[in-house]
Amino acid sequence: MNLNIAVIAGDGIGPEIVAQARKVLDRVAEKYGHTIRYTDILMGGSSIDVYGVPLTDETIDIARKSDAVLMGSIGGDPKTSPWYKLDPTLRPEAGLLKIRKALGLYANLRPAYLFKELADSCPLAAREGGRKFDLIIVRELTGGLYFGERWTKEIDGVRTAQDTLKYDENEIRRVVKTAFEIAAKRRGKVTSVDKANVLDTSRLWRKIVEEVSADYPDIEVSSMYVDNAAMQLVLNPEQFDVVVTENMFGDILSDEAAEITGSIGMLSSASLNETSFGLYEPAHGSAPDIAGQNIANPIATILSAAMMLRYTFGLGEEADAIENAVRKTLSDGCRTIDIMPRGKDADLTGLSLQKCDEMGDRVCERI
Ligand code: NAD
Repeated sequence: MNLNIAVIAGDGIGPEIVAQARKVLDRVAEKYGHTIRYTDILMGGSSIDVYGVPLTDETIDIARKSDAVLMGSIGGDPKTSPWYKLDPTLRPEAGLLKIRKALGLYANLRPAYLFKELADSCPLAAREGGRKFDLIIVRELTGGLYFGERWTKEIDGVRTAQDTLKYDENEIRRVVKTAFEIAAKRRGKVTSVDKANVLDTSRLWRKIVEEVSADYPDIEVSSMYVDNAAMQLVLNPEQFDVVVTENMFGDILSDEAAEITGSIGMLSSASLNETSFGLYEPAHGSAPDIAGQNIANPIATILSAAMMLRYTFGLGEEADAIENAVRKTLSDGCRTIDIMPRGKDADLTGLSLQKCDEMGDRVCERI
């Protein structure tokens, strides 16, 4: 197969971690007989430095013509970087909002998977038999409060602001369908999260979930209020398979789900549109505090590349090969500094510290 991938290395640790994901993709291509063509494009701070804007229309065009985009991360330290002295519409993160909108990336997938080798990093209370969760949050990404009409003004001398939460049935249906499709390839369970006891948008959301579920008789579906979902995620994340929710609830819950694994450097993500196109990036940011030191954990980006093979190219076996290689790398004791046990009583027996590029090599060797 020919894979046409646009690559945004980005800022901070972006170039270091993307280089490892490319190495792993090249190894997969060599083993399974695929040809990959990479096109490097600029977004975020690196684009501001060259073009004065975080994303040009020409760059969007190149991204659109590719099959998928692999991204590191963008942005700098907001306290010290000159990019944050610019108008908010010209800052690095504006590039990300623009590309999501331009490419219609309405479904954001964030898996939260607890590797058994890293179970000690999980901040949740231990439970008998050990903790073991494997869930994915599907967040609606281009509607809701973040894109609704908004204003701030003074009314009768009182400063007042308003944001609007609006969804139509089509916006809801497409992301809910995405969640059901994903559940069909996993454990067959969808939990839809809303606030239907208060919000009209949530009541419509529930109706659409019911309608869509009629087409998926084999999928077990339930609805949960968002406040309860926030609690259940820390009490019993094992109960979830696929969680689907609107933009703002998903923003908050997906970060919560990331935190309960305790290993931000391990978490991948995908943003998809109605076609097979997707943008794949780690869930973490550009980590300016450790950039340029070759110590970042590249696994989140490597696992994002595996998601790309699975969701955009339909190459499940190749995606499994990467995920299994990552698991084997961990079970063989390889660790970047962020996932090394800490503290004076930490048991480091059998573990070996790897630099960012070495970790990429260790994964490649196991494919
Ligand atoms: P961050 O995720 O970059 O870093 C938080 C902490 O986690 C830091 O201590 C960092 O060193 C560590 N960390 C993150 N990724 C790591 C990895 N792969 N290996 C080892 N350690 C890792 O979050 P932040 O510090 O809040 O944000 C830094 C910049 O990233 C900001 O400019 C922010 O806007 C941007 N950001 C970008 C994206 C994106 O590109 N989608 C997402 C989040 C944040």
